[in-house]
Amino acid sequence: MAHSEHFLRYGEVVIPYKIKPSAGRSESVRIHVHPDGIVEVEVPESASQADISKAVQKRARWIYDNVHDAKKRFEHVLKREYVSGEQILYLGRRYSLKVRQVPREERSVKLKGALLEVAHNHVSTAAIRARVRAWYRMKAQNYFAQRITVIASRLPWPQEVPSFQLKEMKTRWGTCAAGGLITLNPFLVRASRESIDYVITHELCHLREHNHSPDFFHLLSRSMPQWEAVKRSLDEKAEIILND
Ligand SMILES: [Zn+2]
Repeated sequence: MAHSEHFLRYGEVVIPYKIKPSAGRSESVRIHVHPDGIVEVEVPESASQADISKAVQKRARWIYDNVHDAKKRFEHVLKREYVSGEQILYLGRRYSLKVRQVPREERSVKLKGALLEVAHNHVSTAAIRARVRAWYRMKAQNYFAQRITVIASRLPWPQEVPSFQLKEMKTRWGTCAAGGLITLNPFLVRASRESIDYVITHELCHLREHNHSPDFFHLLSRSMPQWEAVKRSLDEKAEIILND
């Protein structure tokens, strides 16, 4: 079944949802509400359209509440302008953005104490956003590579250090493809070190268990016993972390 859009009716409200085939051998329909309110329903190949509708309808109230909360949180996030004084998150800490106009050859991006200083020849929102985004990407590349090496070495199953790629995603922190390639959202580098470790551990567990089966969660709990609390705090900050 291809990714496609369907609708759930809950009282007066119509909520769209996407259907996605389960990656593994999971037998049940799983419903995810992403931090921005997008609903994704993971279904086993054997499920009929009627089975899916029934499963979604059964959890209509839960879906409605979660979508409502997610949208409300998103509305409160201010649109970024990339001007001096704005808050910049990096590894869970807050820095203050300082923008300076300089000649082209003096362009730089540097952390200095509590400041992220961006010196650039253009000081438009678009130009500074692009510079900061590139800086996050570079930091993410280095930090994630380092943490994947450390965490993979502590887990018994990775034969070698898994490779990963960065991809900006609106609703996900990371994914693990069936072939084992891990994809991480560079904006995750804004989150706390513990949150980053959680996402990496989650994806490394998918190298053993490719779905969200009970075996997967068992493995995850063994690898990071406090993962649920870490995930909760990461999800609570999602709308701020993903705001770009
Ligand atoms: Zn997963």
